[in-house]
Amino acid sequence: MNTNNTFDKLKPYLVERPRPIIGAETVQLILMREILDYTVLRTEETRELNTVHTPFSVNKANEQVRRVAFLATKQKAAESRELEHLLRTATAKAGLTYPECYLKDNLCMQCPRCGLYGGTSTVAGQQERANIKHRIEYSTAFSLLPFEDIGTALTFNAINDRNQTTGQALGQRFAVQPATLFPSVVTLKSVTQRELILAVKALLACKSYGAESRIGGDVRNTIWGIVAGWEEVITSLELTLELADHLDKLNAEVIKQIVQEKYLPMTGNPKQIVMLEPAEIEALVKVCAETEMDGAFLEAAYQDIAKYREEQLAR
Ligand SMILES: [Zn+2]
Repeated sequence: MNTNNTFDKLKPYLVERPRPIIGAETVQLILMREILDYTVLRTEETRELNTVHTPFSVNKANEQVRRVAFLATKQKAAESRELEHLLRTATAKAGLTYPECYLKDNLCMQCPRCGLYGGTSTVAGQQERANIKHRIEYSTAFSLLPFEDIGTALTFNAINDRNQTTGQALGQRFAVQPATLFPSVVTLKSVTQRELILAVKALLACKSYGAESRIGGDVRNTIWGIVAGWEEVITSLELTLELADHLDKLNAEVIKQIVQEKYLPMTGNPKQIVMLEPAEIEALVKVCAETEMDGAFLEAAYQDIAKYREEQLAR
């Protein structure tokens, strides 16, 4: 497979190397996040699912429904951690040694994860180090179907470890049912081809989300659309409301058609917008997944961030 051709269309929206001062290059990954186990999407403080009132769909704007919200912070935390794990194992396998980096109190500010997801230096005595601004953006995703169709109450019982008897019931906990879909958009700003590959790898590899990931929380992400330009073209909420009008034919072709016909004309720079065909998306995702995180790839990715920091600290 010719890897260069796969990225040709996106080339004008990727950068040669990451820099602290960014341009308008934007790549949006349009995802379907499919919940594969009972998942508790709630805030830490309450036991309730995060829900929000929205119209049912674009065409049924007067019909208000309650949707489950998959908060941006939860998506970002899980995927950033996934990239951290991938980098740790891949660098060890390649025999490379880099400083320890882990969320959230020991960010190294030198690795591709810190470069892409950004970070505030938390190492004692190094407060003078400049922060890194994130170049991957998340937004809250909204369930395709209303809460009434996908929410479920689970009853948990406490088991007494000493005698294995069931203690007093812990009560009800609301969770999202398996097979629930969350259309979602992740936006990359002024990233390199290598960073795009790492972001796609993290999205594909990440399977564990939710408030209590030791129970349930399984999710599979698939990439259904890729749109590039000088700006963001569609948001997660718009995507959900549009797809709710197409529940009988959810596919990559429909997403491309919606973005092209409706959202592209609303942009500030329509001539700069490029949309990948479904077959091109499939090919690109395959190339990203099959790209080895070997010594050469990793050294180049770490070198990019080292140069980024040099440039940032020289200013
Ligand atoms: Zn790091």
